[in-house]
Amino acid sequence: MDLNNLTIKSFHKSFINKDFSILEITKSFLSSIKEKDKKIGAYLSLMEESALSQAEKVDVDLAKGGELGILSGVPLAIKDNILIDGFPATAASKILENYIAVYDATVIKKLKKSGVIFLGKTNMDEFAMGSSTENSAFKITKNPFDLERVPGGSSGGSVAAVAAEIALAALGSDTGGSIRQPAGFCGMVGLKPTYGAVSRYGLIAMGSSLDQIGPITKTVEDAAILFKEISGKDNFDSTSINFEYKEELLNPKLENIKKLKIGIPKEYFSGGLDKNVSLAIEEAIKILKSLKIEFKEINLPHTKYALSCYYIIMPAEVSSNLARFDGIRYGQNLNFKNQNLNLKDIYFKQRGGGFGPEVKRRIALGTFVLSSGYYDAYYAKAQKVRKLIKEDFDKAFSPLGGGVDVILAPVSPTTAFKIGEKTDDPLKMYLSDIFTIPANLAGLPAISIPVKNYQKIGKELPVGFQLIGKPFHEADILGIGQYYDKIKK
Ligand code: GLN
Repeated sequence: MDLNNLTIKSFHKSFINKDFSILEITKSFLSSIKEKDKKIGAYLSLMEESALSQAEKVDVDLAKGGELGILSGVPLAIKDNILIDGFPATAASKILENYIAVYDATVIKKLKKSGVIFLGKTNMDEFAMGSSTENSAFKITKNPFDLERVPGGSSGGSVAAVAAEIALAALGSDTGGSIRQPAGFCGMVGLKPTYGAVSRYGLIAMGSSLDQIGPITKTVEDAAILFKEISGKDNFDSTSINFEYKEELLNPKLENIKKLKIGIPKEYFSGGLDKNVSLAIEEAIKILKSLKIEFKEINLPHTKYALSCYYIIMPAEVSSNLARFDGIRYGQNLNFKNQNLNLKDIYFKQRGGGFGPEVKRRIALGTFVLSSGYYDAYYAKAQKVRKLIKEDFDKAFSPLGGGVDVILAPVSPTTAFKIGEKTDDPLKMYLSDIFTIPANLAGLPAISIPVKNYQKIGKELPVGFQLIGKPFHEADILGIGQYYDKIKK
């Protein structure tokens, strides 16, 4: 069975037409994983048995004449920091190597109701800290476009699985770019929703004021479909918000899309972009202009502080969130029987042996910026800078300021880099998120869209462009994106 070029939309049509049964197609995906994933390394664990029994159930429902939604039977890959009851959730860390989730994340509960099939859990940078998936404690994931290159990160496994056609779509998480940057590197679509649009309940927390779960798909339309399904208020996440997304999210009207004005922030294009990236983005702008969408230059003057601001706030939250992993709760991984150790020794050994170097670096950084004497100089100051960054966006979106509806930016300064190229230099690695971090600091929805249909072109390394929207205006960026998909090469 040909699994290539299937989208959620076309999958649904074929399924309803009875071109295949869900059991058949699930088996095909599982055997394709076994064959292809040896090279790619996208998955950390498979959910074979449960996938097959879920699949049988969907087929029975169809035979009974039950009404089947658009996601029925759709085979998905899930990032390993999202909990699925009864299955491992390691966040690619040794400290959680033996942890089995004891409840479903809210997004998983919702997707179970929609009848999706979970194929397995995907590789990532440990606790989502990184931009290449090389920080996983377990394996390195390869970019399906070039096996010597990284897929990006931290949701590298999820994105590589979709790009390699061993999942139809996936979920990732994005704290500073972890959905959008790998999507850009692998020619996929990745959406980071507005902060509060999707429940974070059951997502292993990294930076709680920044984290959002979002879809990774082949088309913008698929991203809209998945997003609609997972979003909504949840009593288990007090930061989630009740927002009614209209039908327009899935069926945008061209006359409304044409009325949107797109801002080009000067600060994002003033040097530092690789030539092939800037050429590709120019092409994307040209294509959008052919839709008769109006463009305007805008300013986001505090952009230059975003990276430093993020690397104070995020580690502060990391140091507090990761305090819970003492190696005693959540699946002990080391055995200290008969060693006569006291509690403090056990903590030292568990955390010292359980966390990788990047995680330790961030816990140390975060503890430092929160410590008395440094709190005001670093943490409190970064919070003020965060506000200024947010106000830049408010002004750009205000009718009295920039007056734009959407902002177009690069996703990252380069295309996918070589495995090992940046592992010795954390600062270099951090710089690959320079264009994605501001949307997290400001809580805005942002999507990464491949400039071309790279799956069809073959050889070329993918480049994505980013659309950033007003809070809860996912419909704007998804709408423009859906029309872009229709006319791109
Ligand atoms: N690459 C960024 C970091 O290392 C973002 C990670 C993320 O979004 N989870 O923090």
